[in-house]
Amino acid sequence: MDSRQRLQAKFSLIYAIGAVLAVLLLQEYVIGPRMATEEEVPYSQFREDLAAGVIAEVTVEPERILYTVPDSEGATGDEEKTRKAVRIEDEDLVEELVEAGVEFQARTPSTSLLTSLFGWIVPVLPFVLIWWILMKRMGKGGAGGILSVGKSKATEITGEMTGVTFADVGGADQVETELKEIIEFLNHPERFVQVGAKLPKGVLLVGPPGTGETLLAKATAGEAGVPFFSISGSEFVEMFVGVGASRVRDLFNQAKAKAPDIIFIDEIDAIGQSRSGAVAMRSNDEREQTLNQLLYEMDGFDSNEGVVIMAATNRPEVLDKALLRAGRFDRQIEVPLPTEKGRLQILEIHTRTVAMAPDVDLDRMAQITAGFSGADLAQLVNEAALLAVRRGEQTVTTVDFDLGIERIVAGLQRDMPLDGEVRKMVAYHEGGHAMVSQLLPLTDRVHKVSIIPTSKGALGYTMEMPEEDRHLMSKPALEQRLAVMLGGRAAELAIFQQTSTGASNDLERATDLARRMVTEFGMSEALGPVRYAGPAGSGYLGHQAASRNLSPDIENLIDTEIRRLLDGAESTALELIRTHEAALHEIARVLQEKEVIDGETVARIVTDEPVEEN
Ligand code: ADP
Ligand code: MG
Ligand code: ZN
Repeated sequence: MDSRQRLQAKFSLIYAIGAVLAVLLLQEYVIGPRMATEEEVPYSQFREDLAAGVIAEVTVEPERILYTVPDSEGATGDEEKTRKAVRIEDEDLVEELVEAGVEFQARTPSTSLLTSLFGWIVPVLPFVLIWWILMKRMGKGGAGGILSVGKSKATEITGEMTGVTFADVGGADQVETELKEIIEFLNHPERFVQVGAKLPKGVLLVGPPGTGETLLAKATAGEAGVPFFSISGSEFVEMFVGVGASRVRDLFNQAKAKAPDIIFIDEIDAIGQSRSGAVAMRSNDEREQTLNQLLYEMDGFDSNEGVVIMAATNRPEVLDKALLRAGRFDRQIEVPLPTEKGRLQILEIHTRTVAMAPDVDLDRMAQITAGFSGADLAQLVNEAALLAVRRGEQTVTTVDFDLGIERIVAGLQRDMPLDGEVRKMVAYHEGGHAMVSQLLPLTDRVHKVSIIPTSKGALGYTMEMPEEDRHLMSKPALEQRLAVMLGGRAAELAIFQQTSTGASNDLERATDLARRMVTEFGMSEALGPVRYAGPAGSGYLGHQAASRNLSPDIENLIDTEIRRLLDGAESTALELIRTHEAALHEIARVLQEKEVIDGETVARIVTDEPVEEN
């Protein structure tokens, strides 16, 4: 469903609800009162009225008795009002009526047109209205009206030939090697059948966002030259009840008809989340139905039919175990963040169509972009190109790239320079981060320090760049990182004897890191080599998975240990700042003057530390 259809679906829902409400109100306030012209009385009242001899006429129905009595309030005295009573089985009724000498008759109920109209049409009306409105709204949607909602959207991209190949994917050689087998299978299934080898039915690509899972799936189809049927898990979430399941069914039916080909389910975590998991979601039933249909379809065909199912997720840890069982997505391929070599390849791919100035050194760019994903790098190239255009240049230069990196890391700079006391405070705060980082040996290199506020809400920032890709970090290295994070606050404390709200983000990040050191990395002696965090992998999104139930004692100990790490880091930072206070004053002075300084300037100031004046 594209966004327009989604909007329409939402509208028709609002209309439908509105229609039902309108009918209910009509019933309650207009039709209801009109029908209630008969006074409802208990059967005993009827007996009393009969005995009193006030009844003029009686109509006996199987279920009730209607009778008229003179209206006591009526001024003229000859007006009548009708009373009705639910009938109780009494065999002598007729005899008694004859005795009382009233006129009476029998009648089968609901003969009146009005009664049948309201008895039958009113309850059905809302449903007719809903149906009519949906027909009308969806009919305009252009996607074939409501009757085709259940048909898979894949219809429209039947046999999409992606045109993407491995030449468009950088830094994923390992993954490509693993995918070659699938390409081989799609091209020569008979070889596999001959030997009796069965390919895994489902291949799950797992990696942080932006590492190119979607791109790799497309490239696999492109390399094999087969059609690519893709659908995204998030599309299912927005659907009407029951539609998700039928889409899955259609998707599989069509793909089977066109085999060999690839079915790709992007963001599969949106439907495949653990059914029992702690992460409860809305529309559970719908998702469950869709998931069940998916499992059913996967079980229901032979991989030798030539359909390969691929899926991608950033959050493998939330997937339902049933999805990962043998015969389903039993092959997982990890798509990691690119290494330096990979980043170079990706940059080369994305700069192919960009006019580059000869001075741009892509090797260096690859070097200083550790931690960037493929998508970040693609964005970097584009940001740099945009900056070049803005500066009226014909080609993209190193300056554009450097600014582009800053934009991606820190956000857009805002044209709102700080002044006065705040400017001074921020200069010392950022200077504190930078200096502590510069002085500690195991930390990342300082790349740039700025006191220009950013669109991400920071008043300034200190950008560090790892010299190399880090795969493992020792406890001392992490402790030093904590000290850098607290360096800003320490500088405020040392210079102004007070702290500000500016450090709140630092504190949050530092506390997070300290918690992970204690509960995930086993870096606290008091707690020992035990994992106290939730299930493995707190997710690429950095969300802590629900932690196990811990005893209050352990919780307390964890807090104590976090506190100990942070206190230690803060005293390290304070110590360094106190012993190099002159350097900090100098850094802060230059910062206030220039607003942005680079890592080399910081290094120089710290090494040839000005002699203590005073
Ligand atoms: P994911 O699915 O992992 O979130 P995508 O496949 O959607 O990432 O990648 C988004 C974009 O980032 C791609 O269209 C491509 O331009 C770029 N990209 C990501 N990874 C790579 C890569 N390894 N090589 C080249 N480009 C990449
Ligand atoms: Mg993707
Ligand atoms: Zn800070």
